[in-house]
Amino acid sequence: MGRSLKPFKETISRAEVDMTRSPILRKGSRSILERMYLSKIGDIKIKLHRPIEGKIKRLTVRWAATGKWYACFSVGQEDLPKPPWKDGSLVGVDVGLESFATLSNGEKIANPRFFREEEHELARVQRILSRAPKGTPERKKALEIVERVHERIANKRYEFAHQISNQLVNRYGLIAFEDLNIKGMMQNHNLAKSIGDVAWNMLVTLTSYKAASAGSMVVLVDPRNTSKMCSRCGILVQKDLSERVHNCTQCGLSIDGDWNAAINIHRLGLQSVGIQSVQARPL
Ligand SMILES: [Zn+2]
Repeated sequence: MGRSLKPFKETISRAEVDMTRSPILRKGSRSILERMYLSKIGDIKIKLHRPIEGKIKRLTVRWAATGKWYACFSVGQEDLPKPPWKDGSLVGVDVGLESFATLSNGEKIANPRFFREEEHELARVQRILSRAPKGTPERKKALEIVERVHERIANKRYEFAHQISNQLVNRYGLIAFEDLNIKGMMQNHNLAKSIGDVAWNMLVTLTSYKAASAGSMVVLVDPRNTSKMCSRCGILVQKDLSERVHNCTQCGLSIDGDWNAAINIHRLGLQSVGIQSVQARPL
């Protein structure tokens, strides 16, 4: 959004504007630059990152530390037809560590390259910042650059979570995740990992949010023992986190550890909506 808004709302970082009465978007001469009309404020130039589909219900205006304004449109899509082929298609999703996510059908979603690239970039600019003497113009400049990198990471992460959540709700009728609030993600000083942690939460939130209008359902399951339990025979196999393969001492199942967890999450998801699938042996 144009910076002309800044003096108007400089003191607040987040403001909500009811757009139901005056959401007017006008196409500018270039396709990405458009104008938005806000009552009491007037015409504002905006840069649309993706086309707005559906009826605009609400606009949230946010001012980032870098001085940029973000306009976030919430749209309603009640009239979208529900794809019938999705009924009965169920998936369990295990997030984390080596891949961004593993699905219960064995598919893996790789960590995007920017996790690592931005980790290096952030470390680099933070080093420059830490060396700049306090109160100098160099320090001010370095701080601005650090904030810009943080902002870029947040935008890329949102884009990524947005993409994956779209794929999930388009493909599956029931999507089971572990409840990350119960799981309590491990404190990790690895920055790429922490970029991932936030992205997982964002993925679960966005998928849950989109599921209703897409005719899907999201369930959050108890994460206890999802990685230890054998997805074939149900016994608990003790293993440490570095072991990437699930080797069952009882039934001999040997598969990727994340895949084993995703199958367990899938089963728990089914149980939570009252469907028993593979009967796990009582412990
Ligand atoms: Zn087993």
